[in-house]
Amino acid sequence: MSKFIFVTGGVTSSLGKGIISSSLAKLLQGRGLSVTIQKFDPYINVDPGTLNPYEHGECFVTDDGAETDLDLGHYERFLNISTSQANNVTTGRIYQTVINKERDGAYLGKTVQIIPHITDEIKRRIRLLEDEDKYDIIITELGGTVGDIESLPYLEALRQIKRELKKKDCLVIHLTLIPYLNAAGEHKTKPTQHSVKELQMAGIIPDVLVCRTEKPIAEEIKEKLALFCNVEKQNVIEAIDTDTIYRVPLLMEGEQLDDIVIDHLELDPSKSLSLTKWKEFLYRYMNPKFEVNIILVGKYNELADAYKSIYEALGHAGAENYCKVNVVPIHSENLDDTNLPLEIHKIHGLIVAPGFGDRGIEGKIKAVQYARENNIPFLGICLGMQCAVVEFCRNIVGLNDASSAEVNTESTHPVINLMIEQKRISKKGGTMRLGAYPCDIYPGTLASQIYGQKTQISERHRHRYEFNNAYKAQIESNGLIPSGINPQTNLVEIVELSDHSFFIGVQFHPEYKSRVEEPHPLFVALVDAAIKYKNAENLASSH
Ligand code: GLN
Repeated sequence: MSKFIFVTGGVTSSLGKGIISSSLAKLLQGRGLSVTIQKFDPYINVDPGTLNPYEHGECFVTDDGAETDLDLGHYERFLNISTSQANNVTTGRIYQTVINKERDGAYLGKTVQIIPHITDEIKRRIRLLEDEDKYDIIITELGGTVGDIESLPYLEALRQIKRELKKKDCLVIHLTLIPYLNAAGEHKTKPTQHSVKELQMAGIIPDVLVCRTEKPIAEEIKEKLALFCNVEKQNVIEAIDTDTIYRVPLLMEGEQLDDIVIDHLELDPSKSLSLTKWKEFLYRYMNPKFEVNIILVGKYNELADAYKSIYEALGHAGAENYCKVNVVPIHSENLDDTNLPLEIHKIHGLIVAPGFGDRGIEGKIKAVQYARENNIPFLGICLGMQCAVVEFCRNIVGLNDASSAEVNTESTHPVINLMIEQKRISKKGGTMRLGAYPCDIYPGTLASQIYGQKTQISERHRHRYEFNNAYKAQIESNGLIPSGINPQTNLVEIVELSDHSFFIGVQFHPEYKSRVEEPHPLFVALVDAAIKYKNAENLASSH
């Protein structure tokens, strides 16, 4: 039987429930316990796949093809585990299930209501991962902020579950903000008192308070919080602002959050805490010997969360190379002949990001050309790979109006085309080519070298368009090599140039599979190429 930990949020959003949940999970994992995390999001969309990245940041994709909240990326990166559709549920999905059941006649004769039908469906989903029989602990992060209308059914479901489970099988952590008022020179507990009161009105008394704060919290403040919020004083935990999210597990260790949880849940961990690999990573991350600038050409650059996994993957790959990676976001819409060359930025590597639609596409194609012609290490991801193919066809193969059918349906050379099975699809939700697919790698290629001579890999996808195989021979004979192919469908998944410092485009999203303790080889190789490129530049300019 699994034990359950729930994480709620109070006072304001963006306090980092995902990072706190992941950090606690990491500590419990470091004690030899098997842990997973799931997130319940209170919005009506069935999944975040149709959400504009400006609204909700990146959409994270799992092996089983679920389009999920970006917090699942944190869970995977921290814990080095894979999540699935069951790990992310939205209000939309809950209601969809209940309404479908009603249409099927499953509630015949009954009035379908929030309590018990919606709350039962929430509880069923909360306990779904328990059926897998492999987790000692399931952490459930409840999205939103306590007090929101949208959160009420979740809090009611939590109240019921807490009542059904024994005390030793269930724990509630409330993450809250303790603001420091400079004018008064003190921390203020009132917002937390109010949010805990709100929880109590829903029938829930939190067991642990995790307090986000800019400055250390004095013992009297902890006592006050304990008294007013009805929580044991030793269970009032400080979560102070820090330089990197990767330090949070160690801060939580310092606050003994793992001990508090283990005592409450009466767990018997198999070992004392060991986070050796994590600490080694953190050491390399904080003590770089090199530094490179990698340009990220995208169109959602105003919001770094839109490319969360790419930033994280570069951080992991940087640490692996003892290198500080400065990611320089450049808006593809602003990129044209007037602001090329990009030398002003001292580029050592360039990524063209994934994306949808025609906005900014010509800037992305220009960026590819710039990287190709200037021998700058280049990685094209999904749309970035498609732009690399279009650029090559226009400027090397000589197909002047080559394009992707996504942006120009009139092109005489649609070198990127809609996938056949996509042609009959009109609905937008969950209908792309999603999730993990195998890819055969040709020996003797850059791809083969990057993936350590593996002949088959598995990577995650999220797209509707693909390399048009009608142009494959022509493209290959001109020098852009298809080096990774899907064995079942023959789709080209990787292209690369041989006469270049490092030039590779991938139809999949390697960023989804990079983990703190297992950085992704493509990003590791890109950072390595960027270091070499910078060294060669320095050498050339010193002569
Ligand atoms: N818009 C492109 C497609 O659907 C690329 C998608 C992406 O970059 N994730 O094929």
